Amino acid sequence: MSTDLVLVNAGQLYDPASAGTTAAMLLSRDGRIEAVLRPGEPGPPAGSARMIDLTGLTVLPGLIDAHAHLVGRLEYAGLPAIDETAESELTAGEANALATLRAGFTTVRDVGTYRGLLDIELRRRIEAGDVPGPRMQCAGAMITRPGGGGEVTGEEPEAIPAEFRRGVVRDPGEVRETVGRLIDAGADVIKLIVTGAVLTRGTMIDAVELGRPLIEAAVDAAAARGVFVAAHAHGADGIRIAAEAGVRSVEHGSLIDDAGIEAMVEHGTWLVADLYDGDWIDEVGRRDGWPAATLEKNRATTQAQRDGFSRAWRAGVRMAYGTDSGVYPHGLNARQLRYLVRYGMAPRDAIAAATSGAADCMGWGDRVGRLEPGCHADLVAVAGDPGADVTVLERPIVVIKGGVLVRDDRPASG
Ligand SMILES: [Zn+2]
Repeated sequence: MSTDLVLVNAGQLYDPASAGTTAAMLLSRDGRIEAVLRPGEPGPPAGSARMIDLTGLTVLPGLIDAHAHLVGRLEYAGLPAIDETAESELTAGEANALATLRAGFTTVRDVGTYRGLLDIELRRRIEAGDVPGPRMQCAGAMITRPGGGGEVTGEEPEAIPAEFRRGVVRDPGEVRETVGRLIDAGADVIKLIVTGAVLTRGTMIDAVELGRPLIEAAVDAAAARGVFVAAHAHGADGIRIAAEAGVRSVEHGSLIDDAGIEAMVEHGTWLVADLYDGDWIDEVGRRDGWPAATLEKNRATTQAQRDGFSRAWRAGVRMAYGTDSGVYPHGLNARQLRYLVRYGMAPRDAIAAATSGAADCMGWGDRVGRLEPGCHADLVAVAGDPGADVTVLERPIVVIKGGVLVRDDRPASG
């Protein structure tokens, strides 16, 4: 049986413990890290491994975006694309997946599509090797109450195709049924729309749309299948209720208050705060004349969210990096790192949120987010010291997924 052995001269390997770097070689077998070799340690027999030489670069684990929406075109950000075909949404998703991967993001948690299950089909194509893209955890659909933040609003329900309503629930029984159906279809994370959404017209961001009995039903039904729940929540009450009901992560967390922070610390709930995209929405929304109510909702949430993030971080809330990519163009995923630093994190903590932290939040800490034996050989190489300046991660030179080069901008040698 032939194996694919790759020896990566990692140049300087970023060390999350010290936030410094050490010289190391990574030995990958069949896409997984077999050993991290320090200088002087023997490697595989000469000629038995492919060599990838990253001398002069700094190597980190492949980055993780724990809040992405890969399917669909940016023009429909936050809005259901009823007039599109599923295939055209998937074609856009394939381009988005490639842009994400090339940006150094080798794993994403895809937290839902309006047209259900397209994320799972995109993942199937990536895993089959038909198209390049990151590893994906998929929600399949967004669980929402009728007319809620994950629903097609402004249309009569009868006018909405069924594939857009796979996540619509009215009571705990329907929640359980829907969770089970989505997991059967391939979902490995469950996404709840607990409060209104910024970009869904007609919904209120501080209104609780899914009450505690429905959240608990989702957490319980998902846990029975070994799956975590991610809760979209902007409003303070929704954030607190979701944490108390046992969700794995709160998404956005815009209007978090002290009670919400306390509940998240107590329950070990992860916060996935998309600190960057409010700037993007404001810029494009004003340029393109988006509805004033949408822009006002965005402005109100953006600064509040950043302040809340700072307070939550200081209080000890666990942070996983997630950007809501799809609201802004895919491939700019690393741009948010500097916002994490601006609002209170040390660079090493921001990097941890985008690697080991996001992996742990997803329950994938044993396979991604770290360069350790047993993990996928997913890595990104940059010029410069990300521990001093996280913006170097916006310009990856080399990206490797499963031991395979997927981006190589090293200057040609010789
Ligand atoms: Zn989102």
